[in-house]
Amino acid sequence: MANLCVVSGFAVNGVAALHSKLVVQDLFPEYHALWPEKFHNVTNGITPRRWIQQCNPALAALIGKTLRRPWLNDLDALSDLAPLAEDAAFRAEYRAIKQENKAALTRWIAEQTGIRVQPDALFDVQIKRLHEYKRQHLMLLHIIALWQTLVSDPQANLTPRVMLFGAKAAPGYALAKNIIYAINKVAAVVNADPRVGDRLKIVFIPDYNVSVAERLIPAADLSEQISTAGKEASGTGNMKLALNGALTIGTLDGANVEIAQQVGEENIF
Ligand SMILES: *Cc1c(COP(=O)(O)O)cnc(C)c1O
Repeated sequence: MANLCVVSGFAVNGVAALHSKLVVQDLFPEYHALWPEKFHNVTNGITPRRWIQQCNPALAALIGKTLRRPWLNDLDALSDLAPLAEDAAFRAEYRAIKQENKAALTRWIAEQTGIRVQPDALFDVQIKRLHEYKRQHLMLLHIIALWQTLVSDPQANLTPRVMLFGAKAAPGYALAKNIIYAINKVAAVVNADPRVGDRLKIVFIPDYNVSVAERLIPAADLSEQISTAGKEASGTGNMKLALNGALTIGTLDGANVEIAQQVGEENIF
């Protein structure tokens, strides 16, 4: 099917700079030699109307009153916010908005799952389809390591964390369902461990979808983008979370590479 597409198609593109390079170099080097002008890059994108204006009206309003010019259809304008990193009053307003978004998510999590989390903990978020290459199980291993540290060293100076997962599995993907089962089993043990208390909580939000994403993204502190390098064609969750002020921890994969170029290597982990 891919061969028919390249031969019959007018243009062929990957969905991030890295992906387009892999399409040319690894997937179709012969076709590229024949028709180099057919191959392009079109990095994926997100709609700022949904992924900030609608889902995070308070942050959109702060940006609007600060920039005092149209920005929603011209996100390059956001670079004018950079000097405000040195402005204590702006930082306080920004932090108050993030904190209120976290408080709202905390209330919703209690309603949906019965789990009580502290809104002043670090909200560490991995939300995406459940897949081996996306490595939700790597975040789960990290959680187990954190739990072991807290149990073996009660004085350990660790930032309190809420580890949030949202993920849906294809019906036939047995291992994906097993990973969901494992996350929920670890959550049941850790969330009930009195030695851990509020220093580590784990929440697997059921039935992940766009409406759930709209609640989680404005409240995220840390965006988990830890796919096996070379496997994530682009990713768009990475963009939504970055637009709402979450810091990214990730592999050099898909559009993470281009986010790093935009925010600077010192602002991505
Ligand atoms: C954005 C989005 C995705 C894609 O997330 P990635 O992290 O890029 O895989 C998947 N599902 C929902 C509901 C989304 O909103």
